Amino acid sequence: MGFPTFWGGVHPPQNKDLTRDKQIEPYLPAGDLAFPMSQHIGAPNAPVVAKGDKVKVGTPLGSADAFVSAPVLSSVSGTVKEVGPRQTVPGSFDTCVVVENDGLYEKEERWVPLPDYENCDPKEYLQRIREAGIVGFGGATFPAAVKFAPPPQDKIKWFIVNGAECEPYLNCDFRLMMESTDEIVKGTALLLRLFPEAEGVIAVENNKPEAIAALSESVARLGVKNVRVQPLTVKYPQGSEKMLIEALTGQEYVVTALPADVGCIIANVRTVQQCWRAIALGEPSTERVVTVTGDAIAEPKNVRIPLGTSIRELVDFCGGFKETPVKVLAGGPMMGMSMRSLDVPAVKGTSGVLALTARSTLLKRASACLHCGRCVDACPMGLVPSALDSLVLNKEYERFEAEGGMNCIECGSCTYVCPACRPLTQSCRDGKSFVMAQRKKRKAAGK
Ligand code: SF4
Ligand code: SF4
Repeated sequence: MGFPTFWGGVHPPQNKDLTRDKQIEPYLPAGDLAFPMSQHIGAPNAPVVAKGDKVKVGTPLGSADAFVSAPVLSSVSGTVKEVGPRQTVPGSFDTCVVVENDGLYEKEERWVPLPDYENCDPKEYLQRIREAGIVGFGGATFPAAVKFAPPPQDKIKWFIVNGAECEPYLNCDFRLMMESTDEIVKGTALLLRLFPEAEGVIAVENNKPEAIAALSESVARLGVKNVRVQPLTVKYPQGSEKMLIEALTGQEYVVTALPADVGCIIANVRTVQQCWRAIALGEPSTERVVTVTGDAIAEPKNVRIPLGTSIRELVDFCGGFKETPVKVLAGGPMMGMSMRSLDVPAVKGTSGVLALTARSTLLKRASACLHCGRCVDACPMGLVPSALDSLVLNKEYERFEAEGGMNCIECGSCTYVCPACRPLTQSCRDGKSFVMAQRKKRKAAGK
């Protein structure tokens, strides 16, 4: 039987076996933790603590007053050691709060369950979700409280819980679906109270039959109405918003719109689980599961860590490198970000650390385009990546925009299929950054 899917896309090797059956292991670091003030889409936090302040798990370290923002909370108890610029995952230097860890992991007393949460006005959930610092944990890191409060004219018909996890190598969502199944189902049911006319759909790629079975059993056992588990065709990038909407609702969706404009709210499985824990258990969102994997890692694992943990400490917990990696990525091989240093903190969007040797990377020199058209067939957004690449190389940014370059979702499918090894995704990324910077400049100049 065929399952819903989308046009285009690719089938890269899954390479999930290294950590697929590894249960999530908790790790509490002994060293200092660092908290970048910008870990989400939207306005960065302004630090609200200073050197010498005492903090606990759940203490806000920054204020998030802007509408599109989310507070950064401490995931550890201890003393603020420093507030200042530090290197972060992308390699840039951002304002960070560094906390000297006292090793006690004491939680702030004010974090208690939301009273009568099953019967209260569901709008109270939004305040709790915001205070708990919850963002989209699938990688987009959009503040969840903003996403769950669409304008009243948007009639929400589908509440889609994204368990596709189509990125090769990564298993953090799969393990969560296996080990926190009931929390995901309860979270879906709870959040559906915000959208009483919507159907809940937990969408999982069909290469995770155990997760599909566990979630289906949980929905039936808990007697949750109006939620179904939907298997999806295994194809990359099935988990991106546009592809999920098109596969599940049959509607065409343009990325310049918001999912709510076409009646959809999409939330990652971890986001939904974290919302349930914040509301029902009174838990701030201060940790996440990270898949540490790749053929250079001695003991690949799925690890639950406090946010702010040093990536170097996390890699050491996984036995360190058994071979020198030629590439270390934050995230998976398709959409992950190349890391320049391991001495950076894990943040809300860190789903994986992938360390690869030369054997498993394609470090070939790019050659001229062969006009084979493979990138066009692969692009799920219907773009012509080869043409966008030329436009960026020739600095023709207006034409890049006119040819739809800003619609690129940076999925990496074009780069993956290109026989000439052209860095097509990077060209699109560069083109988009340039156009965004120009727009910002024009806005600042009042034009
Ligand atoms: S052009 Fe963008 S959206 Fe299209 S395949 Fe390449 S990276 Fe993906
Ligand atoms: S896949 Fe590569 S070689 Fe083929 S048309 Fe696209 S850019 Fe050119």
